[in-house]
Amino acid sequence: MEDKITLVGKDIKYLEALMIENGQSKFRAKQIYNWLYLKSVKDYDSMTDLPAATRELLKEKTQLCSISIKDKQISKDSTIKYLFEHSDGTYAEAVLMRFDNRANLTACISTQVGCPMGCTFCATAKLGFTRNLEAEEIIQQIFLIQADTGLKITNIVFMGQGEPLLNFDNLIKSIKIFREQFQIGARRITVSTCGLIPQIKKLAELDFQSTLAISLHAPNQEKRQAIMPVANKYKFDELISVLKKYTEQTGRRVTIEYVLMKGINDGIEDAKQLAIAISKLKSNVNLIVYNQNEKSEYKKPSKETIQKFKYILEASGKKVTIRLERGADIDAACGQLSSKFKNNNP
Ligand code: SF4
Repeated sequence: MEDKITLVGKDIKYLEALMIENGQSKFRAKQIYNWLYLKSVKDYDSMTDLPAATRELLKEKTQLCSISIKDKQISKDSTIKYLFEHSDGTYAEAVLMRFDNRANLTACISTQVGCPMGCTFCATAKLGFTRNLEAEEIIQQIFLIQADTGLKITNIVFMGQGEPLLNFDNLIKSIKIFREQFQIGARRITVSTCGLIPQIKKLAELDFQSTLAISLHAPNQEKRQAIMPVANKYKFDELISVLKKYTEQTGRRVTIEYVLMKGINDGIEDAKQLAIAISKLKSNVNLIVYNQNEKSEYKKPSKETIQKFKYILEASGKKVTIRLERGADIDAACGQLSSKFKNNNP
């Protein structure tokens, strides 16, 4: 049987050609396009301004997505964690976060099945690496969250499973579609990397208007190397100097992500060293409290330690935010849900 065409991820030109090829009016493409990207409906029968014959044609020849929702967990704080299954039986995750009193709806999405980077504190690292996601598979995560909730995503963070800059072309392709087709502003998109220097340089060459977040997680080379194998290849000092260049080239501030882990990187000396290391880097700091569960080998610091750490950085002139803990009662940290399903590497 001929494979069905997957619609989510296709642009207007493709949809127009598809309509014409099948004897339909060209303007049906625009209607379908709006249903896909602006309304993200669950099925063809919800595309109410299409004639029944067009809907039947779509059902026969196409499918909305090639991925599907395999599992879903809803936290008491209304964070929703999704596990998506791909057509080859692999999984990837996404999380939808809502913050009280804010209209923003942020989706954290994945770019790879598993991850090869091996960060010691990360549940995804334990899954190993299977493959890069196709751009359409990345895009469909946002579509399915919108279709499932009936809500419009306003912000996207590439902080789910995988190292986004290892899947560079599909990352850039999906950002283009999020901006142009889903109409999510470039400034509302954040890409997080563990610090791949060649790809950061490549991003600086592009007209990259989204935010770059660096998972630094340590105040110096020695500590970074102990928890992030990437530091063996790309040294701490070189990374900071490449980031400085990046901010000069792009005119954009970077975000320093720092997961606080008790007794590992949360000391007063760590905070002071970090403040010095990034003092000349145009950056904001996002402190993340380690998402501890019963299997974690690391622990989260006390509230007092977190506040002291924050204070030292603020005293050095940095803008610091503490990422609110979301989904503490579900498997909201990346990799935690996938690890419950065993066929990640079929
Ligand atoms: S923290 Fe990010 S880069 Fe490191 S192993 Fe996990 S998913 Fe990969």
